Amino acid sequence: MGYIAVAIDGPSGAGKSTIARAVAARLGYVYVDTGAMYRAIGLAVSRRGIDGTDADGIAAVLPSIAVELVYQDGAQHVLLNGEDVSAAIRTSAISRYASQVSAVPAVRQFLLETQRDMARKGDILMDGRDIGTVILPDAPVKIFLTASAETRADRRYRELREKGQDVQYEDVLHDVVERDRQDMTRATAPLRQAADAVLLDTSELTLEQSIEAVLQIIQDKTGETYI
Ligand code: C5P
Repeated sequence: MGYIAVAIDGPSGAGKSTIARAVAARLGYVYVDTGAMYRAIGLAVSRRGIDGTDADGIAAVLPSIAVELVYQDGAQHVLLNGEDVSAAIRTSAISRYASQVSAVPAVRQFLLETQRDMARKGDILMDGRDIGTVILPDAPVKIFLTASAETRADRRYRELREKGQDVQYEDVLHDVVERDRQDMTRATAPLRQAADAVLLDTSELTLEQSIEAVLQIIQDKTGETYI
């Protein structure tokens, strides 16, 4: 029997990673945060002083970049050439770099096989932008998780404030809208809902309700009982 893959796509700030991590833990699946892989490449590119839009320059350094996801005590860690960069990739600057490098076809090609490979090794819950459309088009469960731009910006703003970062709501909202635009209008693997994905809008849902809603969708699609 094959393994079960749950594909969760959607714009940044819809709560994908928090919800996906919690659902994966409930189901005993491995959670694969593909955004972290793009962030690691964004970090590598920024450290080398290459512009995030320099497609040729980025393609040229890819052979010297190794991105790996490892799991320690159930938590995902991102390794960039062996260095744990899990914390370093979570800054606003690297968010922008990640969004830019993710538009480079060579970068997407570079990560495609690694991501597909992870789905061959066990039951997984993978989140990203093109999982249901490009990476795992045959996934039995696909969810498109979204929320209004204002709700997403508000959540992100609180999160950054809690981390002690001195950000303004207007700037965060601007970043959210800009990243949506970049993710949805890029030529390669743009963010869009797969035809067979279930749409879930979390604007009016609490985290707990969102987790329950995702479990319900997985239950309906797989016929297993989780709730
Ligand atoms: O999900 P997260 O915000 O960490 O992703 C960082 C960036 O990586 C996103 O803005 C998006 O441009 C890109 N990304 C992507 N495809 C994925 C996951 C992330 O293009 N599957």
